[in-house]
Amino acid sequence: MHFTFHLPTKIFFGTDCIANNSAEFALQGKRPLIVTGRTSAKASGALTDIETALKQSGLQWTVFDSIEENPSFATVEAGGQVARSFGADMIIGVGGGSPLDAAKAIAVLATSPVRAQQLFDGGFPAQPLPVIAVPLTAGTGSEVTQYSILTDTERQTKRSFAHRDIFPKAAFLDARYTQTLSQQITISTAIDALSHAIEGFLSKRSTLMSDLMACEAIGHFRGMFANLERNQLTLADREKLLYASLLGGVVIAQTGTTMIHSLGYSLTYFRNIPHGRANGLLLAEALRFMQPAVPEKIDAILHTLGLPDITALKVTLERLLGEEHPWSHDELESFSAIALQAANIANTPKIPSGDDLKRVLAESTAQN
Ligand code: ZN
Repeated sequence: MHFTFHLPTKIFFGTDCIANNSAEFALQGKRPLIVTGRTSAKASGALTDIETALKQSGLQWTVFDSIEENPSFATVEAGGQVARSFGADMIIGVGGGSPLDAAKAIAVLATSPVRAQQLFDGGFPAQPLPVIAVPLTAGTGSEVTQYSILTDTERQTKRSFAHRDIFPKAAFLDARYTQTLSQQITISTAIDALSHAIEGFLSKRSTLMSDLMACEAIGHFRGMFANLERNQLTLADREKLLYASLLGGVVIAQTGTTMIHSLGYSLTYFRNIPHGRANGLLLAEALRFMQPAVPEKIDAILHTLGLPDITALKVTLERLLGEEHPWSHDELESFSAIALQAANIANTPKIPSGDDLKRVLAESTAQN
């Protein structure tokens, strides 16, 4: 048995975790730049909690709240400029996956103003600023990963860069912040978390330790599907989802994602399908494709979810996510060609050909 398990993020979990650990911010810097989207940081109450903590420590901060869904390089480049002109020495990312991933990129660009392709290649000369992450959705797990996923307009896809120096130094997870999310966003982000746990469990790079966390995360979805569908989530349910999302992030930080994320990026880029929903639409048919390579693991996933077979998973996900109209011939060709170029496809336990990807895509919109 041999493996590497790297998790350098300090995790604070639970109601009022920011207020109860407010001194943590001053340990990372004196002039934070808060990176967030237009509304959720305020609506959730997270921004007030953070600003109260910063005030208590006597820190000076500024807010960059221009992060859009699926952020572009131009946005993070602008954030890097704001960080430099303010003299920021740390970045606080607040939001769903987009602001958290943007915060990591801004942390790099603040000290290394490189061009887009150099950033995507993971090459930058200076040490990035430290990042503190406050997730406002239960899905991305970005608060505990070394990944930043941005939109690469040149290659027409979402693209990630990974670097051990962009792991957040600390993460604050308070499920109350997810209570203001719409049902649609709650579902989409929850299915992203499920997808991380499942893909991490199936990844060629999975280890005994990551499997332990992946199975724990998957187990929290047993019985949760019905609550999500009825839109009846208690704070305890939301804590479970946030915990599952955290575990999913820890898992993919070790294992990477697989063909599901590789294909899902095109559904988001070209069809504007939210990231989690994109993965969820592909999940069942991708499992069917991988099943011959990892039958015991697929059985374990279904057993943990309390579902009899892959078709039952597909039905469950369709009820939560709704169906999507079929992809055109050209979409099948281009989405599969783009996925074949994605780095994470190599983690898939059975490497798909272009035709395999087209089949998975085509079946993913068919009735179960
Ligand atoms: Zn994801």
